Amino acid sequence: MNWDDAPDAAAERLVAADADREEQAVEAALRPKDLDEFIGQERVRQQLDLVLKAARKRGGTADHVLLSGAPGLGKTTLSMIIAAEMGAPIRITSGPAIQHAGDLAAILSSLQEGEVLFLDEIHRMSRPAEEMLYMAMEDFRVDVVVGKGPGATAIPLELPAFTLVGATTRAGLLPPPLRDRFGFTGHMEFYEPAELERVIHRSAGLLDVPVAADGAVEIAGRSRGTPRIANRLLRRVRDYAQVRADGVITREVAARALEVYEVDARGLDRLDRAVLHALLKLFGGGPVGLSTLSVAVGEERETVEEVAEPFLVREGLLARTPRGRVATPAAWAHLGLVPPQGGGGAGQGAAGPGQTGLFGP
Ligand code: ADP
Repeated sequence: MNWDDAPDAAAERLVAADADREEQAVEAALRPKDLDEFIGQERVRQQLDLVLKAARKRGGTADHVLLSGAPGLGKTTLSMIIAAEMGAPIRITSGPAIQHAGDLAAILSSLQEGEVLFLDEIHRMSRPAEEMLYMAMEDFRVDVVVGKGPGATAIPLELPAFTLVGATTRAGLLPPPLRDRFGFTGHMEFYEPAELERVIHRSAGLLDVPVAADGAVEIAGRSRGTPRIANRLLRRVRDYAQVRADGVITREVAARALEVYEVDARGLDRLDRAVLHALLKLFGGGPVGLSTLSVAVGEERETVEEVAEPFLVREGLLARTPRGRVATPAAWAHLGLVPPQGGGGAGQGAAGPGQTGLFGP
């Protein structure tokens, strides 16, 4: 989905995995600068370390690298680390920004020898640009087409050797010919709580905010496996600690702060809970169709499907079935509710009165 078009409910979320422009500036100060500083993702880190060391030993440019994984897991950060470790400059752009092959040709032809080109959301590049990229990646060459129709001519253009770092939310979204041209593919996983605690301690040090061990545990547990969210929650908890407490982030201060910001113990926010609440209270745990569920929470279908549901599914709180959305036993437990007799899921009894209440006059 295009985040520029995302409804406000999605854009303003404290637990959104994407960053807006303002946040990107704040984040820059918190980015690890080399592989040793980069926390977690052991496998990708070790493999990348080998790729980069070997390239340095050969005195050449590193192979093209594809990084796949959810937003906020560190793909941009890793691309900057690749450039830093190679002692090379970096150019950052994204698939949606490259609509014409000419846009790509302009970028490629202005690269310096050895430069790293970070192409975020590479799966959203236009088809003609993608086809130009094939040749550029393989032969460091592009054909620039001048003119139209029978008189059009292709002028070959030599490019400096460069390293492409492509980022995508799912490697499966890429056409195989593009995927095959990457020498190395790294899959970024969601982070374990202990890793997020390290991220929080590191960021707290850089921001000069005192955080107790149990305070970091509390924030990590609500960060949805994502360093970007951990850093964002840390900043909001810091504000609370400075205004309503003595500035130190303890477990209690973190919990109180995140209650104010409506991020619960499992990292669910108001929207997530509204979806679960409707599913359980109005529809007895489902199955219920996406459209009905969306109307019940007063949100767009896309918001429920693309913003709230992925995390609820990942947490094992909601299942998408051919008959509709169904709550799991963990969802009932999380909201402190008791499933209806005769097995949650069918839930005929609970649906009636609730529906009347919501959709009635
Ligand atoms: P992506 O490009 O995958 O959306 P970013 O690289 O922009 O994610 O990372 C988002 C934020 O999270 C950055 O501020 C970065 O400092 C932090 N971050 C990501 N991964 C790590 C990590 N492994 N260790 C420490 N901080 C991290």
